[in-house]
Amino acid sequence: DTVGANLARAVRAFPEREALVECATGRRWTYARFAADVDAVALGLRAKGVGRGDRVGIWAPNRAEWTLTQYATAKLGAILVTVNPAYRSHELEYVLNQAGVRLLVAARQFKSSDYAAMVDEVRPRCAALTDVVLLDGPDWDELLLTGRQGDPAVLAGIGAELSADDPINVQYTSGTTGFPKGATLSHRNILNNGYFVGELCGYTEQDRICLPVPFYHCFGMVMGNLAATSHGACTVIPAPAFDAPATLAAVAAESCTSLYGVPTMFIAELADPDFDSYDLSSLRTGIMAGAPCPIEVMKDVIGRMGMTEVSICYGMTETSPVSTQTRADDSIERRVSTVGRVGPHLEVKVVDPATGRTVPRGDTGELCTRGYSVMLGYWGEPERTAEVIDPDGWMHTGDLAVMDEDGYLSITGRSKDMVIRGGENLYPREIEEFLYTHPDVLDVQVIGVPDARYGEELMAWVRMREGARPLTAEAVREYCTGRLAHFKIPRYVHVVDEFPMTVTGKIRKVEMREQAARLLG
Ligand code: ATP
Ligand code: MG
Repeated sequence: DTVGANLARAVRAFPEREALVECATGRRWTYARFAADVDAVALGLRAKGVGRGDRVGIWAPNRAEWTLTQYATAKLGAILVTVNPAYRSHELEYVLNQAGVRLLVAARQFKSSDYAAMVDEVRPRCAALTDVVLLDGPDWDELLLTGRQGDPAVLAGIGAELSADDPINVQYTSGTTGFPKGATLSHRNILNNGYFVGELCGYTEQDRICLPVPFYHCFGMVMGNLAATSHGACTVIPAPAFDAPATLAAVAAESCTSLYGVPTMFIAELADPDFDSYDLSSLRTGIMAGAPCPIEVMKDVIGRMGMTEVSICYGMTETSPVSTQTRADDSIERRVSTVGRVGPHLEVKVVDPATGRTVPRGDTGELCTRGYSVMLGYWGEPERTAEVIDPDGWMHTGDLAVMDEDGYLSITGRSKDMVIRGGENLYPREIEEFLYTHPDVLDVQVIGVPDARYGEELMAWVRMREGARPLTAEAVREYCTGRLAHFKIPRYVHVVDEFPMTVTGKIRKVEMREQAARLLG
């Protein structure tokens, strides 16, 4: 199947049900209206010469036009290149040139980002870029107008020619460990993933999914948008960019049944001073993914937010993204301590990185995944692709994991984040979990810093709860002594207001390590 055919099925089954709500403007679409607008955008783009295999960039915060463009390009067989809204001009230029983007759809501006000015700045240096369509103004309006005068039958003809194995997206990774990589994904890759994620969340046309996660990333566009259309559910956009009060207000006002986020988003929502004033009783499920979730946060998401069926998903952009997911009937214990079992029609294994052999259950190793979800490759970078996908089709994730006897996986961290102190392998995750139980700690991250004696030493970065006194290294030592092995007690403690983050809400430990090296001189 193709994404276009998938949307058509939802439209036939649920024409009058709501497909999309944009809270910031109050605009709403039924499936029938949504599909008509998708066709108008598709025909408008076609009138500008966009066809199968052409790269169309989108550079905007979350908004309805983003989703319309997502489906419109899919119907044309074009390849949507999703550009991180936090980029600045030099990163934009890199992506446009790297993917050979021919037409760019861009917001004019949002907060301090003047997208239009940055587009003007890079345009002379982007040879492939022949057209720019700015939102909120004549460009977009004309595109729609032209498209509305077009003949939708043309789109049916184009759709019949497309193959499920055609590339449909170049999606960039979060850039947590370095410069983002563009994963090329096919209709088959992302459509199956969206479908199965939605299936395991038990979505039906009754569900309303609140999406504060960025659309430019697979969490929003696949696990959110495609999971919704695959099951006739409605997506709710609480705000253009993550905003805790706006998210809580959207859940309450739109009676959302599902809410997505990375752990830091749920932490912010739970810490909102007005948390108790929002009626969240409609929430049943949701997805927490993208980074390890502290157990205490998971308990609050289930207990205080009422997301009793919440799923933990693990995956990466390169695998469309989800590889493992907890099921609604998994015990709370499993949902707080594992990332679930392998998804339908996928395979996983945990290997010793040195030998490539599968390790015994219960041992730590590198997680590998295989199946329909593995990307076609990094766009234009066959060597980098070959470094991560082996000849047998296994994607080497770079994440460390343990599989238990029943097939449940726990992620112990990224292989690059593992700390080796005096020959001992330390997993920051375990130490973070423990420090998180300190009553004054709002959030904590542990990294390794160079040390002359031990090779590496542990440093904890701590965000304090409001009103709490900053923690010192001595206080941490005292708290840990007798409860944590002495070599796992962080030597350094650094109190901060915020961690360095990616737009997807992930913590950039690379940057923390750089800053720490400067701090320690
Ligand atoms: P980059 O590859 O650019 O450094 P990134 O790996 O963060 O960035 P993504 O593809 O957005 O980019 O994220 C995938 C990674 O997120 C996984 O490899 C894993 O490290 C982490 N991750 C995803 N889900 C979970 C989870 N449930 N628990 C722990 N870690 C997770
Ligand atoms: Mg990655």
